[in-house]
Amino acid sequence: MKQLLILGAGTAGTMAANKLRPRLGADEWTITVVDSKPEHVYQPGYLFIPFGTYEPADIVKPEAQLLTGGVDLVMGEVDIVKPDESVVVLADGRELGYDQLVIATGTHPRRDQTEGLDGDDYGVTVHDFYTLEGATRLGEVLSDWEGGRLVVNIVEMPIKCPVAPLEFVFLADAFFTERGIRDRVELTYVTPLDGAFTKPVAANHLGGMLDQRAISLETDFMTMEVDGDRNMLVSYDEREIPYDLLVTVPVNMGADFVDRSGLGDELNHVEVDKHTFLSVDHDNIFALGDASNIPTSKAGSVAHFAVDVFVDNFLEHIAGRPMTGQFDGHANCFIESGNGKGLLIDFNYDVEPLPGKYPLPGIGPFSLLKETEANHWGKLMFKWTYWNVLLPGRELPLPAQMSMAGKDLIEVAP
Ligand SMILES: Cc1cc2nc3c(=O)[nH]c(=O)nc-3n(C[C@H](O)[C@H](O)[C@H](O)COP(=O)(O)OP(=O)(O)OC[C@H]3O[C@@H](n4cnc5c(N)ncnc54)[C@H](O)[C@@H]3O)c2cc1C
Repeated sequence: MKQLLILGAGTAGTMAANKLRPRLGADEWTITVVDSKPEHVYQPGYLFIPFGTYEPADIVKPEAQLLTGGVDLVMGEVDIVKPDESVVVLADGRELGYDQLVIATGTHPRRDQTEGLDGDDYGVTVHDFYTLEGATRLGEVLSDWEGGRLVVNIVEMPIKCPVAPLEFVFLADAFFTERGIRDRVELTYVTPLDGAFTKPVAANHLGGMLDQRAISLETDFMTMEVDGDRNMLVSYDEREIPYDLLVTVPVNMGADFVDRSGLGDELNHVEVDKHTFLSVDHDNIFALGDASNIPTSKAGSVAHFAVDVFVDNFLEHIAGRPMTGQFDGHANCFIESGNGKGLLIDFNYDVEPLPGKYPLPGIGPFSLLKETEANHWGKLMFKWTYWNVLLPGRELPLPAQMSMAGKDLIEVAP
């Protein structure tokens, strides 16, 4: 028997296992998935917990329920991959051999990478919503917060779901308006980017939305430290931003074992070919989802489109044929903008987010770079789609490659 070992039972690892199981002969291949945690969390739901829309129980399921029959789940922390021996060692000393390895251990917030973020103020004046615990605690704080200076800060790019911090400030604006205290809240969005978002057309549009909501935008801010004694965010070029409540998106890093195994870049993201996900150094190691260093958004939608391309490629690869699928960096993200509305962006390695309609040209039902109620419902419906269509490996009628059909080639006014 040949062994396919998948490290990480998150979005990418679960989809890859469930899609490959029916296509790999059960008498020829075993599939084993390794994860350190028994629960699977629907991470886009983190955004809604601080505002009371979801409870933690709404977004968590046991992983064992999500894997198709014939896929083995091993609970354990990966300690190191030994590529020369084709062996993975777990923290408790167990060893798992493989013929093919898929690394899908994601990327995770690391408060320890920034001075002052990991101190006594965390959970008091400094919060995050990129973890279940952080989002839950922040919800408790926001529900009876009396107002003041709320600063949302991205420490460094890349982060997973790069639009999530923007969504957070849009939802905060709507939340405090509804609570009748918006005039007592000063909202500031602090980013290392030179605009509200990475790509110019979307950055203009989203920057305009911040303006409309009287949310201050502080750009090119390279966070050096959080000075908890003075409640001050400090940059390397000595700018200072005071806060009463800091909502941080810490540095996001891949798992430490990636570094220990000599497979990663400086942020522990696995170095792979951006079109096939094959390791640049090893012919039997792939990385999928946020764990890889491909230069597109780190998002569940990317994991979905990527796994679609990967599955056919993988079957060619193990048959000794060249891989014919070429991933184009396709990403799409709903952006919740408050008051029951949202936007959608759709882009790839070469094409930035543009206005238009998606997925059907002229019809939609979703509008690109435009606030609509349909986009808000699309975002909320996505949770059902995630559990019932994407994770089980069922087909969603959306092509993996980005399409220009439906996109308007016009500039969006700032
Ligand atoms: C606040 C927020 C909002 C988001 N909103 C959206 C959205 O609207 N749309 C969208 O498309 N995406 C969104 N995302 C991003 C999306 O959730 C991720 O991109 C996606 O989950 C990545 O999947 P993955 O499989 O690569 O990693 P993950 O799903 O994070 O899975 C990684 C798995 O690896 C395991 N693991 C890690 N290290 C080890 C180890 N050493 N040993 C064993 N197991 C290990 C972890 O326990 C985890 O189960 C959002 C993310 C956040 C945080």
